Amino acid sequence: MDYFPIFLDLKNRHCSVIGGGEVASRRVSLLMDAGAEVTVFAPTVNSTIQRAVSDGKARHVAEEFIPEQLAGSTLVIAATDDPSVNRQVSDAARLRGIPVNVVDQPDLCTFIMPSIVDRSPVIIAVSTGGASPVLARQIRARLEALIPAGYGRLANLANRFRDTVKQRFKQPAQRRRFWEQVLQGRIAELVHTGQDSAAVAALQKKIESDDHNSSPLGEIYLVGGGPGDPDLLTFRALHLIQQADVVVYDRLVSAAVLDLVRRDAVRIYAGKERDHHVLPQEDINQLLVRLAKAGKRVVRLKGGDPFIFGRGGEEIDTLAAEGIPFQVVPGITAASGCAAYAGIPLTHRDYSQSVVFVTGHLKDGTVNLNWKALVQPNQTIVFYMGLLGLTTICRELIHHGMSPSTKAALVQQGTLPNQRVLVGNLETLPAIVEAAEVKAPTLIIVGEVVQLRERLNWFAPASPGAASGKES
Ligand code: SAH
Repeated sequence: MDYFPIFLDLKNRHCSVIGGGEVASRRVSLLMDAGAEVTVFAPTVNSTIQRAVSDGKARHVAEEFIPEQLAGSTLVIAATDDPSVNRQVSDAARLRGIPVNVVDQPDLCTFIMPSIVDRSPVIIAVSTGGASPVLARQIRARLEALIPAGYGRLANLANRFRDTVKQRFKQPAQRRRFWEQVLQGRIAELVHTGQDSAAVAALQKKIESDDHNSSPLGEIYLVGGGPGDPDLLTFRALHLIQQADVVVYDRLVSAAVLDLVRRDAVRIYAGKERDHHVLPQEDINQLLVRLAKAGKRVVRLKGGDPFIFGRGGEEIDTLAAEGIPFQVVPGITAASGCAAYAGIPLTHRDYSQSVVFVTGHLKDGTVNLNWKALVQPNQTIVFYMGLLGLTTICRELIHHGMSPSTKAALVQQGTLPNQRVLVGNLETLPAIVEAAEVKAPTLIIVGEVVQLRERLNWFAPASPGAASGKES
């Protein structure tokens, strides 16, 4: 270990910052956040420092550096753009035994400043020992994504009830189990969704009633898993799938997204395969109710967004009727994901002022839609579940007045390495698709915006599957 990590209490401590530019001002803010009394020594300071000074939060001494300025300092930071001044500061601080940091000059430092994730009172500090500050920042960014914003409030809540819990549960093992349940369970979720007073009430109730045997009610999280690329998950979706007891998922959820599910979670496949559903909807609804009643935290993971052609509404309707707590986490719907990765803006000032999402699902061999409403100038139409009905869809659109030369695209497995995009017009697309042996899932986009792909196509998956068929 090159550096020994510690956290300093700087409240009401005198700290000196030498230098008054941008870099210095960032250090000043951090020190102020930690409750330090900051004095800035510099002939001139930037507007941020000026504001802090006029708000009475920091002091400014408009002088060149002299060693005497360091008297009484707990900590010194040098952030001038003059290397010789920085060296003088470092020498003077060392001579007086004051910890000193010189920005970007590790050899002049007696301590270095980590990249931090601030969820006060939770602070995560990352250091590469000066080897690569950029790498430290990247690690920090990953942690930022992993640690929900509410962790600080969660820590405060735990702190508030620490003594009470200690009184109530005498055995350390009991206490540990209690806190594990609280900090990962429903109470934590209430904090993460900003329902702090409900969290306090639930925690109080749990302290009074917890007998270690009762099985509390679980919770269902209806989560949108996005169109396939795991990087398109929301932070919240990732957080929930990594702590669920059970994950009930659909066919559309990509393998790459499933890979992110907590290793020891139970996975239940409830996928629908066009007309023969593996689990009838009613059974899925009942399964969720049963799991929640058994105290499980269940992620009901769906492709795309759960409220767009996802039957999400029906599933939580049953839960609501049974009084089971649930949350809904939106996902990137196939239309957004496929359009973005195909380089087809769904709206565009020159071509399309509205976009409609419709289902092209074939029922009794036909597609029942309000064709008149769909055939409008300057409108993009996105068909979900339209592959089998493609010929009918194109025919009806033409029949209801749309020009046969209107551009249309079919996106296969959008956002995934196997993405393929077939482009034609209302007249030609069915035959192009017929010849190309496409694989589900597929999305159809109709409208003038499709032509923009010629210029805006940016996603070039390196998969061999992308090589066949008539590409655009
Ligand atoms: N809730 C989902 C849609 C469910 S309906 C969402 O918001 O995206 C299923 C249909 O979505 C499929 O038939 C297909 O038309 C479309 N779809 C979902 N993921 C897709 C993908 N990666 N590529 C192309 N189409 C997709």
